[in-house]
Amino acid sequence: MRTTHWIGGKPWNGVADRTGDIYDPATGRVAGQVDFASAAVVDEAVAAAREAFTRWRTVSLAQRTSVMFAFRELLNARRSDLAQILTAEHGKVLADAAGEIQRGLENVEFACGIPPMLKGGYSENASTQVDVYSIRQPVGVVGVITPFNFPAMVPLWFVPNAIACGNTVVLKPSEKDPSAANFLAELFAEAGLPDGACNVVHGDKEAVDRILEHPTVKAVSFVGSTPIARYVYETGTRNGKRVQALGGAKNHMVVLPDADLDLAADAAVSAGFGSAGERCMAISAVVAVDPIGDELVGKISERIAGLRVGDGRRPGCEMGPLITGAHRDKVRSYLDAGRAAGAKLVVDGRSHPIDGADAGFWLGPTLFDHVGTDMSIYTDEIFGPVLSVVRVPSYDAAVELVNANPYGNGTAIFTNDGGAARRYQNEIEVGMVGVNVAIPVPVSYYSFGGWKDSLFGDSHAYGPHGVHFFTRAKVVTSRWLDPSHGGVNLGFPQNS
Ligand code: NAD
Repeated sequence: MRTTHWIGGKPWNGVADRTGDIYDPATGRVAGQVDFASAAVVDEAVAAAREAFTRWRTVSLAQRTSVMFAFRELLNARRSDLAQILTAEHGKVLADAAGEIQRGLENVEFACGIPPMLKGGYSENASTQVDVYSIRQPVGVVGVITPFNFPAMVPLWFVPNAIACGNTVVLKPSEKDPSAANFLAELFAEAGLPDGACNVVHGDKEAVDRILEHPTVKAVSFVGSTPIARYVYETGTRNGKRVQALGGAKNHMVVLPDADLDLAADAAVSAGFGSAGERCMAISAVVAVDPIGDELVGKISERIAGLRVGDGRRPGCEMGPLITGAHRDKVRSYLDAGRAAGAKLVVDGRSHPIDGADAGFWLGPTLFDHVGTDMSIYTDEIFGPVLSVVRVPSYDAAVELVNANPYGNGTAIFTNDGGAARRYQNEIEVGMVGVNVAIPVPVSYYSFGGWKDSLFGDSHAYGPHGVHFFTRAKVVTSRWLDPSHGGVNLGFPQNS
């Protein structure tokens, strides 16, 4: 199977200089190839988007949203086809793929209702017989660059809102699981979106660099690891674009001694090992406040033992493989590194039973206890099924630890003390906070974003921030009646 670019409403028909392998992570087999875009191919996509923008920006809100409603219906009807693609290329289990699509659909539904978000303000008679009003207009061609771990949801965070706001898009998904992006672009075409309004280019740094440099691209939404997010932000802004670049994470779940420990253990296991830990909102560090450490670790271990790891297409499997063999090997290397650094390896994922082909990219759920903040298993974003328990003596020590971490994507506190939860939400330097909720991904009508090294730029993703990011403000001052203003007057205009 070959996955190629989607430009101007149809598959690209050139011959790629470079391609990459697409794996089925549950079997370890190469399932297809993806074309990598050269700078010239990116230029073709940007030209198609630019051409489409001249018309699409003039299309009425009523017509734009009717395309979005049609897209929503098609996506809803075909969600199980898309889930199959996600599981085949990413490896996440089908139920998890369905959840990803559902959260993506919520963003499409937000885009269906975008007209009220685009309303401006109007001041009649701001000066005598002079009215002042503000409007928001699309920025133009938007680049969207996305990571491997949510091949459908993260594109859906950006593309529907960008298009509903009147922009046109060049989407560059992860080369590791590229086919979901084409599926979405084809559905947009079927929904009636004009050719060129949603383009997909595949590839790696070469394609990304061209998007970041191209003078016609006016805005870039990026999601990925922190080093690349920083690079994309710096390069894009240096080239005059507005950029929102969401980066990596190390999410802490603080468990206070008064918490319901069964609830906390369920949540730690679900949020630590769902999607094999390959979520930017995964919990990777449980901060156990004395004296509950032993009891909590016991409850988490019991639950890990019951997890079914295997091929996501097989009924009953709860956790799939990692994305590539290289990534699995890297994640697995942390098991020895953690032990060598002095952490206690409570559950070793290498011996977990696997319901899948031997050559799949497997690593079972792993639990470390007594993890120190100087150990690489704590400092690095492992992005795999490795959960660390860090023990602290008090609430204050927990807050100090979380705030000292360079990442600030998501965090959770588990407690029955409303006052402590209220203090935590106020004191913690993290962009998204859960109270007895381990994965506090905001609903589509709020916005998603971390603090510190988890986000570069001042705009969060989707929701109201997304609309703001994808539009430019314009203020009009107008006089229709009594156009005379007393002849030539070189003084600065004053309101009267
Ligand atoms: P990645 O940074 O390797 O890749 C992200 C995108 O950047 C891909 O499209 C990739 O092709 C491109 N890219 C990779 N290397 C590049 C380079 N040197 N120059 C230019 N472009 C490059 O990330 P990934 O491994 O695909 O995804 C996992 C990471 O994404 C994790 O760090 C995770 O925390 C993060 N993530 C963050 C969020 C968030 O909302 N903050 C959401 C999902 C994933």
